[in-house]
Amino acid sequence: MTLEEIGAGVTHLRMRTLGTRMLGIDVSAYLLGPILIDTGFAYVREPLLAALAGRRIDAVCCTHNHEDHSGNAAAIAASRGCQVYLRDAAGLWEEGVRSLAPYRRFWWGPVEPFAPVEMPEIIDVGGRRLAAVAAPGHSRTQVALFEPSTGDVFTGDLFVSPGATAVLIWGDPWQEAASLRRVAALAPRRMLSGHGLILERPAPVLEVKARRIEEAARLSVELAERGLPWREVVRRVFPRGGAKDRFFEALTSSEFSRLNFVRAAVRNAPGGH
Ligand SMILES: [Zn+2]
Repeated sequence: MTLEEIGAGVTHLRMRTLGTRMLGIDVSAYLLGPILIDTGFAYVREPLLAALAGRRIDAVCCTHNHEDHSGNAAAIAASRGCQVYLRDAAGLWEEGVRSLAPYRRFWWGPVEPFAPVEMPEIIDVGGRRLAAVAAPGHSRTQVALFEPSTGDVFTGDLFVSPGATAVLIWGDPWQEAASLRRVAALAPRRMLSGHGLILERPAPVLEVKARRIEEAARLSVELAERGLPWREVVRRVFPRGGAKDRFFEALTSSEFSRLNFVRAAVRNAPGGH
């Protein structure tokens, strides 16, 4: 657990365990004045609460419902008596969060139950003002939190890596691309993601990812319409890295894969399929 002041009145909390080191990422939360953005996962609860001791927290915003972002919302809300905001709050237990697959239990641990409050369009707390921009695709509850006065945008898992990638079985590549463009259109000065990545002037990178996702999704639809089997569509849309993808597919009980991307691209294609 490390805390770092990173400018514009933002404190970056980085959470690491053996599991996150295996994945080569960390899990990030941010303190923006008295607003806490994301809460990490169950296995870092004690160090997180210790790191936050003595700091004012008047509101918690979860960028989305997944257990590595909402895992400690209950503990923080209970100790501070504050609200936890989540977009599409009724979706808290969706997307496998209620009953975690073994790999999710192993890496992050369960979400302690809490009652999220629907994310308002504007969060105005302790002199900080954030606009909550809907950013579904990775998760139906995903939001981007944009602070116009500084140009910072907090994006959770909207952008983890640059190209079209494997997605969770609940993912929607078309929505993901639209969300990336919506956030790019804000012309943010800085993007602060849920897994440690911080990028200055991210709009062009977000646009490129959106375009790559749409190209891969369009190709998926085209090949599926020609009657190719799903696995063959996957091989043509993603010609490289098949072995690694199959490894992750097996590891995640088929929750995370390129096959999911291809099927979701066809299922949710504009015009209906
Ligand atoms: Zn996520």
